[in-house]
Amino acid sequence: MLRRSLLMILLVFSLLASACGAASAPGGGGELLVVATMPVVSDVVRQVGGDFVRVETLLPIGGDVHQYVPRPQDSVMVSKARLIFAHGAGLETFLEPILENAGAKDRLIEVARDVPLIKFEGAESEHQGEQQAMHEHGFDPHTWLDPNNVMIWADTIAEALSQADPAHASVYRKNAEACKAQLKELDTWIREQVAQIPPERRKLVTDHRAYGYFAQRYGFEQIGAVLPSFSTEAAPSAQELAALEQAIRSYGVPVIFVEEIGNRALAEQIARDTGVRLVQLYHDLGPAGSEADTYLKFMRYNVTQIVQGLK
Ligand SMILES: [Zn+2]
Repeated sequence: MLRRSLLMILLVFSLLASACGAASAPGGGGELLVVATMPVVSDVVRQVGGDFVRVETLLPIGGDVHQYVPRPQDSVMVSKARLIFAHGAGLETFLEPILENAGAKDRLIEVARDVPLIKFEGAESEHQGEQQAMHEHGFDPHTWLDPNNVMIWADTIAEALSQADPAHASVYRKNAEACKAQLKELDTWIREQVAQIPPERRKLVTDHRAYGYFAQRYGFEQIGAVLPSFSTEAAPSAQELAALEQAIRSYGVPVIFVEEIGNRALAEQIARDTGVRLVQLYHDLGPAGSEADTYLKFMRYNVTQIVQGLK
């Protein structure tokens, strides 16, 4: 019964989501060739670019942006592109050498550049500060987990496309506004969904610390992560593992949310030790035809999983 109603919800959302995706059909023969680093960035660039922009994506679906190893063709793709859209906030550590190779540094647009970033908190930096500062510049690089941040991306993208292609500036602006209206609706829907979870149960344990922006916006607390870092690169110490299991028990957290990336074996071990369930979320968009193949569907899927898991 639960499964059937979940399917119905997803069906309705996929219909809604296709409205925002209507102008985003890939391979539309657009004139302006741009590159996006990862699928979630690519989706929003497609929506804002509409028919006048062709978007190639470096990271494959299901890839781990934190540990991506560029392919030789990535440099070729980047060198041909008018603009390179990255998330920024220290997320794409692989990008710098590619940009240098391709002489494309001045064509880089970081879509999260105007998003107020969440800084690394002092209490946690005691344990992993050095390693994180090195890889992540001390900021949470997962701004897409709050649609209000993606509204800011849409403006940044529209501005960049308009500068590269002034003839279509009004179209990019209009597309960005349409996209933002849908993101606003998504935000309202998330608030309604989250209201089903009693405030004291809004505690997140995830496979790495990806939910800072989501938690801040919708009143959750990240009480721990399997990989106690903003990245999937870190491994927890024995003390950190013990502290996490202790936190799961003392807060009575019923689930650990895992993603298509991260350390699944370790999450399974912690789930066994503490007697909680694993629930799957997406870190980036899912395969074409899946329940998470656009940003709107991705968020609705993840939020539905979180609500079902915690309420
Ligand atoms: Zn991540």
